[in-house]
Amino acid sequence: MTVSQPHNKAGANIRDLKQQNRALILKHIALTRGLSRGKLARIVGLSKMAVGNLVSDLIAMGLVEECETPAANGNYGRRPIILQLAAASPCICGMLVKRGFFQVILADLGGAVLHRRDIPFEGGMDQEQMLALLLGAYDALRREEPRRVLAVGIASVGPVDAASGVLLTPPSFYGISNVPLAQRVQEHTGLPAFLIHDASAGALAEKFYGGQKSTDNFIYLHIMNGIGGGYVLDGRLYDGDSGQSGEIGHTSINFMGPRCSCGNVGCLELYANVPQMRRRITELLPLYRSSAMPALGGSDQLTWLDIVDAANHKEAAAVAALEEFCGYLAYAVAANINLLDLSCIVVGYESSSRGGIVEKLLQSKIAACSRHKNITVLHSGFGGDAPLIGSIACVAQRVFDLSLPLLLDEPAQKEGQAGHAQ
Ligand SMILES: [Zn+2]
Repeated sequence: MTVSQPHNKAGANIRDLKQQNRALILKHIALTRGLSRGKLARIVGLSKMAVGNLVSDLIAMGLVEECETPAANGNYGRRPIILQLAAASPCICGMLVKRGFFQVILADLGGAVLHRRDIPFEGGMDQEQMLALLLGAYDALRREEPRRVLAVGIASVGPVDAASGVLLTPPSFYGISNVPLAQRVQEHTGLPAFLIHDASAGALAEKFYGGQKSTDNFIYLHIMNGIGGGYVLDGRLYDGDSGQSGEIGHTSINFMGPRCSCGNVGCLELYANVPQMRRRITELLPLYRSSAMPALGGSDQLTWLDIVDAANHKEAAAVAALEEFCGYLAYAVAANINLLDLSCIVVGYESSSRGGIVEKLLQSKIAACSRHKNITVLHSGFGGDAPLIGSIACVAQRVFDLSLPLLLDEPAQKEGQAGHAQ
């Protein structure tokens, strides 16, 4: 796979500084709507003239454009000029690999999705058939979009080895394992490709494009078929030595518990899972004769989405099952909070109803088993899509920290002087 080497030089010459400032300016324009040159100068702490020169470079490079803000009602006076990503600026391909289906998107550096494909993926396929589906979706999207694509970010169910770009041995993944995902995507597309654990991608989406842009420390919990955790620490994604962090579902909450397929005993996911919630609901339903839940097709058919929606509608059996789920999850989260001294938890999952019962239950359960009492549990604004959006963020991050070469070329008017920084 391709992992560009980060800039780890100690020194910086004038050209390096210029590129770093350009990246900083581009990052703020991409991630903040409605920025004027003056506001941008105040945010980054550079003079208006310096910002003006850097913005001119980015405009000449086709990355940024200026436009007037829309007229307010009845106001026909002079309107402020704001900066935004150029309509033809390069985009990023993001892929999400999970049980049940794949998702492939093209999005701009600001995380705005331009095109999207959802592809059902069931058992009975081998590795090559799976890759053909994924790469076919990329080809279809590519035909719809004339913009240059910079790179591909791939978020995937774990465990993954992000450093080598290999999807390792995910449980219940149709017998498919040890897939060199990043390498195969790179060979097919001719683009750099980066693999990231889905929960880490969710954390990155929250930090870059979501509600936690200014939060330095938080855990993102992704609840799907399993439970994953992504960590932002000191303002950056913590990804471990090889990108295998975040397997919170396989931390033990009972050292006398049963053996898990991962080799550990008493793993969180052995207790907090949808089949266990179904069993709990089946036990409780006779006690709640007025319940509407059997109308969903029998408690043995209930999905996570059904149970959360029913709980948000105050169905007592669903609330009880979810309370038990959140109780187990809280033990694992409290251990993380005690180790890392965190106070913000963001939870991402699919839901078609409002109500926030998962967050309320989790917050109260964590408070009951942690000595940290000021814990905030928030619902991700991306719902179940945070890992997909995070696949875009994992490429954007590399553009903004200059480990992808978008900003290393000089603007067009300086052609001929461009070269590699010494
Ligand atoms: Zn386990």
